[in-house]
Amino acid sequence: MNKQARIFVAGHRGMVGSALVRRLAADGYQNVITRSRKELDLTDQAAVNRFFESEKIDVVLLAAARVGGILANATQPGEFIYENLVIETNVIHAAYRAKVERLVFFGSSCIYPKQCPQPIREEYLLTSPLEPTNDAYAIAKIAGVKLCEAYNREYNTQYVALMPTNLYGPNDNYDLKSSHVLPALLRKAHEAKLNGDATLTVWGSGTPLREFLHVDDLAAATLFVLEHNVTEGLFNVGVGNDLSIRELAECICKVVGFEGELVFDASKPDGTPRKLLDVSRLAHMGWQATIGLTDGIASTYRDFVESHAGSTPAAAIEA
Ligand code: GDP
Repeated sequence: MNKQARIFVAGHRGMVGSALVRRLAADGYQNVITRSRKELDLTDQAAVNRFFESEKIDVVLLAAARVGGILANATQPGEFIYENLVIETNVIHAAYRAKVERLVFFGSSCIYPKQCPQPIREEYLLTSPLEPTNDAYAIAKIAGVKLCEAYNREYNTQYVALMPTNLYGPNDNYDLKSSHVLPALLRKAHEAKLNGDATLTVWGSGTPLREFLHVDDLAAATLFVLEHNVTEGLFNVGVGNDLSIRELAECICKVVGFEGELVFDASKPDGTPRKLLDVSRLAHMGWQATIGLTDGIASTYRDFVESHAGSTPAAAIEA
């Protein structure tokens, strides 16, 4: 891909968007275009059309989305389905109208059915019912995948969809009510250590299995897809192995240095029992993740301490 290409990273302040911006800069791309929510509201169709008409974008990386963990998804399904559908349709349609040939749409592994054979292959999409705790978000993301496919078929665009497994890394959401499990447990372990607590509460039974991908690996996979001129399709992005929530909690406690007991809160939902992606489609093309979980958690913890934790962690993190 041309290093002068005008690349619009939608959602550059989020965990995925900021990783893409870091990676593009490191690889020497010189025209990375970003807009804050104040400058460009992606739910405002007219504003999105005006932006694309004036900016002459070559490539769109659509990482803007309303995202959240199991509790946020289960309690605010209306916001999750509405905002994601509107952002996707506005950006993808405006990109097509402005003759943008290449776009990468980011979804999530929760688009796949709840009772999927494991590991999950891309072809299992829409083969049986979804996990109910995040079906509204999943339906919106499936619509995004279908938008890319439909526009490619009808208009000859080259819109590709990447489905990462559970992500973590710099700029994650550490708000305990809306975050995913890894940042939540990282924060809980850090605060439990500082407070000298005897226990740390983990939601659910601790038995669900999850796979975790460092967001810098997702950014690497995105550049791989762009630089190898992949023109269509749905691609899982993961590490190829998973662990239980209990094992994840133990690993986090070790990295953080919290030595108390884990307590499991059965009043909180477990969600889907297992969510391991089959990553052979990208692997056959020559890409695989390189950041190991313990190293990834350790660097994320350092970043968390530097950027949030200061002397009054709880207050700093809410800000
Ligand atoms: P999911 O992968 O879509 O289910 O989303 P999450 O990352 O929010 O949750 C994954 C699993 O971790 C679920 O079984 C949660 O119950 C469990 N979990 C354990 N402790 C926590 C926590 O403190 N926060 C969150 N979000 N999940 C937790």
